[in-house]
Amino acid sequence: MDSINIPITYPGLGKCIYCGKSNTKLSKEHIIPFGLGGNLILSHSSCKGCAKITSQFERFIQHEMLGPARIKLNLPTRRPQKRPKQLTLVYHSGDMQKKFESLSIEEFPSVIAGFDFPEPALLRNIPYNDHKISEGRLIIKPIVDITKNEKYKAGKKIKIGSFSVLEYKRFLAKIAHSYYIAQFNNMNFTPFLPDFILGKNNQLSYYVGGGNHLPNNNSESNILHHLYRQDCIHNGIKYIGIVIHLFAFANMPKYYVIVGR
Ligand SMILES: [Zn+2]
Repeated sequence: MDSINIPITYPGLGKCIYCGKSNTKLSKEHIIPFGLGGNLILSHSSCKGCAKITSQFERFIQHEMLGPARIKLNLPTRRPQKRPKQLTLVYHSGDMQKKFESLSIEEFPSVIAGFDFPEPALLRNIPYNDHKISEGRLIIKPIVDITKNEKYKAGKKIKIGSFSVLEYKRFLAKIAHSYYIAQFNNMNFTPFLPDFILGKNNQLSYYVGGGNHLPNNNSESNILHHLYRQDCIHNGIKYIGIVIHLFAFANMPKYYVIVGR
């Protein structure tokens, strides 16, 4: 996988795309984080307070969920000299005691992780406050084939990362919201996502879900990530939708996010 990318910068709107604040210093926003190989940048678009919130869940996704995969796939880092040559595997075998083992990047069981989600609940006519909205199934694709390695005998439980549906959905909401504003450079729509991105509301499943019902794109086998707009009409209302396909080359699940109307 070729992870060299050329940055593409879009002009900002002169205000924070999350809270709307304008008389403040605004920082640029990577639509997909730099550390995941994202090359689209929206300039002057996040205030300090909102950047602090979004960077927290982005850090979780990049380090806890996809940390070893980023190293194995040689995705960008701001501190290349600090990138480890060895990673510590945490495992249990037989007895319940936690054990640690230092492994090279080649040997470490790195995985690409994502979720298989149902479509956004809005499109399934599930009421907004229904807490039975089904969540997701974790999808793991190993990058390093560990089945041939003697070290991973049956009965050994290894830790491959930490995963959170809620944090991942906030991360997808942030990508879709910032991508729409970058591409279409306006706020002339009713945005649905800022409160979810800022953690004021956790009913994300209403607008953020799976996109595996969308047609498959055969040309994606060589693409790291793919974003595009695909609106939808539901119960006579037109919604703005963004399709997010992260790690497309590995055939990971697609996501569909309704950003507004
Ligand atoms: Zn803000």
